[in-house]
Amino acid sequence: MKQIKLAVIPGDGVGVEIMPYATKVLDAVADLHGGLKFEHEWYPYSCEYYLEHGEMMPRDGLDQLSQHDAVFLGAVGNPKLVADHISLWGLLINIRRGFKQTLNIRHAKQLRGIQPMVTNPGGFDLIVVRENSEGEYSEVGGRIHSGEDEVVVQNAVFTRKATERAMRYAFDLAKTRKGHVTSATKSNGIVFSMPFWDEVFEQVGQDYQDIEKRTAHIDALSAFLVSKPAEFDVIVASNLFGDILTDISAAVMGSIGIGPAANLNVDGTHPSMFEPVHGSAPDIVGRGIANPIGQIWTGKMMLDHFGESELADQLLTIVEDVTESGMKTPDVGGNATTGEVSEEIISRIKQLT
Ligand code: ATP
Ligand code: MG
Repeated sequence: MKQIKLAVIPGDGVGVEIMPYATKVLDAVADLHGGLKFEHEWYPYSCEYYLEHGEMMPRDGLDQLSQHDAVFLGAVGNPKLVADHISLWGLLINIRRGFKQTLNIRHAKQLRGIQPMVTNPGGFDLIVVRENSEGEYSEVGGRIHSGEDEVVVQNAVFTRKATERAMRYAFDLAKTRKGHVTSATKSNGIVFSMPFWDEVFEQVGQDYQDIEKRTAHIDALSAFLVSKPAEFDVIVASNLFGDILTDISAAVMGSIGIGPAANLNVDGTHPSMFEPVHGSAPDIVGRGIANPIGQIWTGKMMLDHFGESELADQLLTIVEDVTESGMKTPDVGGNATTGEVSEEIISRIKQLT
């Protein structure tokens, strides 16, 4: 029996509403396999936890989480209770950094039964590989002078190691897919970091002669991603560019509520973390209408991560069968609840056992 030990953190808002269903879906999928079992331990780390304890997670929180094979996270943030920078840094960034989750991977695909932003007759299927540990999101810089002489400097930090790691992951991924990688750059305007980025793309690309290599400036690429998503396979991007591109690609699918994501620890020294693209969605919390597909598809990415690709594909097929049947939450044009969509997915999985 293969056991996968999950640290489950529902977090805040719709994360709390969706997570019980998403874990039930994973259990049903594991039953389909027969020789697989998820063990889940639930952790209450959230904004409510912060109000009670004065911190988003305990001092030894990372030690506790590191006992598991992966972290399955819902959503973090309740701006009415706790300022976003506290909740985000205290939990999400803390785990990403503590567990050296240096890559953020987000899949975007046209799902059957869901109207994408732009109609693509042949559909689209792309993955953004985002460098997750450095780049434009550095804490290097400062403010000098004040008043009308005030100057603010914000540095971007690009190391060869982290840049190569992102490129290599993207090329390896493309080998298993359509075979092309697009690098998001801006070397016509950003004169140090981006020419370096292009150089590393070129160098690492030498090891992947069969992969088609493209580079595109981030501005044109963003527009292109909206109008012609089918042109892409794997996109590799720096931290900031990747952040922007992944929100766009989720929206292009039709709703931010369906996008999945993984924060990967590439060398396997710590657990990776799987969390949907969407946040805690305070505007719809408590109404039972949050789309569970982002979290469920995130579970599918986790299955892929643990080498269960066949099972993972089966799960996504069932999700699409359900959306195609018209059983959908309001964000994608339906009138079903979180529970109804989830239970329908579970019952279709059980029909296969
Ligand atoms: P973050 O927590 O990353 O700061 P945010 O507050 O910027 O996120 P979200 O919480 O993702 O953004 O919400 C953005 C919009 O998308 C909201 O209108 C929200 O209702 C909607 N949304 C987010 N998640 C879902 C979901 N699972 N189902 C339906 N709608 C959703
Ligand atoms: Mg938010």
